[in-house]
Amino acid sequence: MRIDKKVALITGAGSGIGRATAKLFAENGATVALADLNAEGGRETERMVTAAGGKALFVQTDVTKVSEAKRLVDAAVEKFGRLDILVNAAGVFLFKAIAECTEQDWDHVLGVDLKAVFFASKFAVAAMEQSGGGTIVNISSGCGLIGIPENTIYTAAKGGVIAMTRAFAVDCAPKKIRVNCICPGVIDTPMSRGAFKSLPDPEMAAKANMAHTPMGRFGEPEEMANTILFLASEQSSYFTGGILAPDGGFSAC
Ligand code: NAP
Repeated sequence: MRIDKKVALITGAGSGIGRATAKLFAENGATVALADLNAEGGRETERMVTAAGGKALFVQTDVTKVSEAKRLVDAAVEKFGRLDILVNAAGVFLFKAIAECTEQDWDHVLGVDLKAVFFASKFAVAAMEQSGGGTIVNISSGCGLIGIPENTIYTAAKGGVIAMTRAFAVDCAPKKIRVNCICPGVIDTPMSRGAFKSLPDPEMAAKANMAHTPMGRFGEPEEMANTILFLASEQSSYFTGGILAPDGGFSAC
């Protein structure tokens, strides 16, 4: 699935699924603009891509700040001349009982996982129109499809991403911009490892999630990147508003 000569912007590119996506996109011919709050991780991804012969630009960005999201899209277009693909992979997770959740938790999780997806997409759509079209891939979650314990705020954000993907798809189809979304199950990244560690019994939590995954293993970030590449490429040319769940069966039960 080649995406030669495409310019792709990937948020959350300093870690996990975003980093795997940046590397795979570059291996398949794209130039990549990389955004993350974590400068060390983002620069490391930039180094990995360029060391493998790819072209990359890292822009440290807090995607929850609308002015920074705009600056990010502008920087990508200024450096590479166009924008064809956006992957919204920045994210934060929260396991918390409803009674313990605060307004700050709500604002933080919804800020990164939902508001930032809207604004990065808003600015990217304007840039893609100038390029004659494009594709956006959002990362929701299996938690956007089914309920899991002590996860209401993250679930609300990820359910919002699914709904917003469909609404963007409808509005952007006339602009030749396709908008799709993936709902990963449990993927072995710093996020899922940190989520289990935040619980009183991390081993038990990991086992319970494994038991809820019919394939009997957690996913790898590279497996998510393969699905994201498919949705970003011409191989998925008739997909828009689509919701794919690469999750080992997590949302099937
Ligand atoms: P990850 O390894 O933690 O990567 C997420 C990246 O986003 C981190 O580098 C993080 O930086 C960055 N980030 C957080 N807040 C940000 C902000 N305000 N502005 C810019 N960057 C920010 O997580 P991942 O597992 O790859 O997750 C990628 C996406 O997949 C997320 O949307 C996540 O919700 C979704 N997802 C993951 C799983 C899973 O099991 N891993 C399952 C379903 C869906 P810091 O390290 O500084 O926080």
